Amino acid sequence: MTARILDGKALADRVRDEISPRAAALKAQGVEPCLAVILVGGNPASAVYVRNKVAACEKAGIRSLKFDFPAEVAPDEVLARIAALNADPSVHGILVQLPLPPQFDEQAVLEAIALEKDVDGFHAENVGLLSQGRECFIPCTPHGVMKMFESEGVPLQGAEAVVIGRSNIVGKPMAMLLTNAGATVTVCHSKTRDLAFHTRRADIVVAAVGKPRFVTGDMIKPGAVVIDVGINRIESGPEAGKLCGDVDFDSVSQVASLVTPVPGGVGPMTITMLLENTLESAERVARAKGQR
Ligand code: NAD
Repeated sequence: MTARILDGKALADRVRDEISPRAAALKAQGVEPCLAVILVGGNPASAVYVRNKVAACEKAGIRSLKFDFPAEVAPDEVLARIAALNADPSVHGILVQLPLPPQFDEQAVLEAIALEKDVDGFHAENVGLLSQGRECFIPCTPHGVMKMFESEGVPLQGAEAVVIGRSNIVGKPMAMLLTNAGATVTVCHSKTRDLAFHTRRADIVVAAVGKPRFVTGDMIKPGAVVIDVGINRIESGPEAGKLCGDVDFDSVSQVASLVTPVPGGVGPMTITMLLENTLESAERVARAKGQR
């Protein structure tokens, strides 16, 4: 079998085409959607992610504010900025780019963000709401993956799904979303004894490991749907500098029915869902204004 390639860039473009008019409509009502992005330190990958997020906002008609702090900044200074943004009614979303330097308690910073502006969905209360299947901001990467399933009509109810990775930002929320959608979910991680045993019986595999081309074709059931969340830069050899996912695309695409590429798969959807969450937040504010 040769897999169909799920073009995340094309899907992201389609979703973004719906975002721009919604942003314009809000602006016409006097609510300009606005995302504040906080970057601490000079991690080059983080700087690229932030630049891409700001550029995507601009293109979609969402105002963005960017706050750069040096790596050695005192956590209180960043917390004071978050408090000011929480109190600013013109700001609808606040994002702190992770990872933070070692002097920070990352979870404390995430929880300083007002729940109604937590467009990354990392606040513990948002996580609790997600686990209960209640309305909340859904973390952008797994949210984007769910949109991909929806756009392709991938049946989730009763499906055997394996999520590889149990991070708070991808693996765990992904598992919760799939569970809420009726899939039977197995979460695999670094301590899993026989990973291939699990992946080989899965209808859906989501790889969020951070290891280049880790999932190979022999680990996949024929006809499975394989979503590659990984973004890895190859460090040495003839392909040095090239981006690749956690999935060995060449071998997996011989076995799966549907596979996402890297780049051009989950990545563009992640940013799109950030725009969507920011817009959703601004729409809530506009609705509340209309009711006053
Ligand atoms: P993480 O390092 O926090 O988590 C990695 C997970 O992989 C851990 O839970 C670990 O237990 C598991 N793991 C490690 N070795 C394993 C093994 N041998 N077998 C099974 N599981 C193993 O990473 P993360 O933040 O969840 O990100 C994962 C990948 O996704 C990274 O490549 C990251 O760059 C990428 N990512 C992409 C997007 C996007 O928009 N596409 C967003 C976030 C993260």
